Amino acid sequence: MTTLSIKNLGVKVGEQQILHGVNLNVSSGQVHAVMGPNGSGKSTLANVIMGKPGYQVTSGSITLDAQDLLSAPTWVRAQAGLFLAMQYPTEVPGVSLRETLELALQARGIENIDTGSRLVEEAGRIGLSTQLLDRAVNVDLSGGEKKRNETAQLAVLNPQIAVLDELDSGLDIDALRACAERIEQLTQAGLGVLCITHYHRLLDYLPADQVHILIDGHIVESGGPELAQELESDGYARFLPSDGESDGVEVAIGGLGASNQAPRPDADDPFSDPLA
Ligand code: ADP
Ligand code: MG
Repeated sequence: MTTLSIKNLGVKVGEQQILHGVNLNVSSGQVHAVMGPNGSGKSTLANVIMGKPGYQVTSGSITLDAQDLLSAPTWVRAQAGLFLAMQYPTEVPGVSLRETLELALQARGIENIDTGSRLVEEAGRIGLSTQLLDRAVNVDLSGGEKKRNETAQLAVLNPQIAVLDELDSGLDIDALRACAERIEQLTQAGLGVLCITHYHRLLDYLPADQVHILIDGHIVESGGPELAQELESDGYARFLPSDGESDGVEVAIGGLGASNQAPRPDADDPFSDPLA
């Protein structure tokens, strides 16, 4: 049993305090969903867990069992068993996906795996064309293909804990279902998941044990799956400050139903705001 433990986490970007004392524990086999309006700090949380540069931790701790992660570089966190599926997966020209996974597995002392065949097997499970596996990491893949690619990597690497930052964005309904069901299978085998999403749909296939609402860098409520259902119908209104002001957080008027129709940043849109 492994536990990712986040205690009183405060994070600043530049002069702006983004996260204010976040507490969260994710153990093997559990699925924790984090939902919140755009700009509430969800990607900041995911990125700080994985050690992306550019964030200043102002308080608290992140540990994987007894291991302190905040003092460790990203590769050590990966070696310890953490995985991040990024909201906007990075293209890495000239770097082969197969070799990357091979080296990542070797770094964790896993040598007796035919990475090429495992990748083909996992791609087949989620409908990712095996022709795309010969490309450099994420290069020239569509938004949805990148998300499937992340899922295939996750399944091959078989980490202890996976953080999924809007895995569902860019996926069509069949791909969403295939990816989410594959991850659900992995949780049955012990994977712990921190799943950031805007939509209940992902959780239909990857049921959450707990749902946490993040507003303005605070977890304002935690509960069961019924919380995600409530958001789907009522939006975030109940969780927002009563004066309607929430420190710069964008709030969809009319709840999630309305925000579904609003234009959303797309991983393939060169003009989208990568921080949205
Ligand atoms: P979410 O994923 O919930 O939409 P983010 O964590 O991406 O929110 O962003 C939270 C806030 O932090 C936003 O106001 C965003 O503009 C700001 N922010 C995040 N990363 C950076 C950065 N690298 N530089 C400047 N501001 C940032
Ligand atoms: Mg985000």
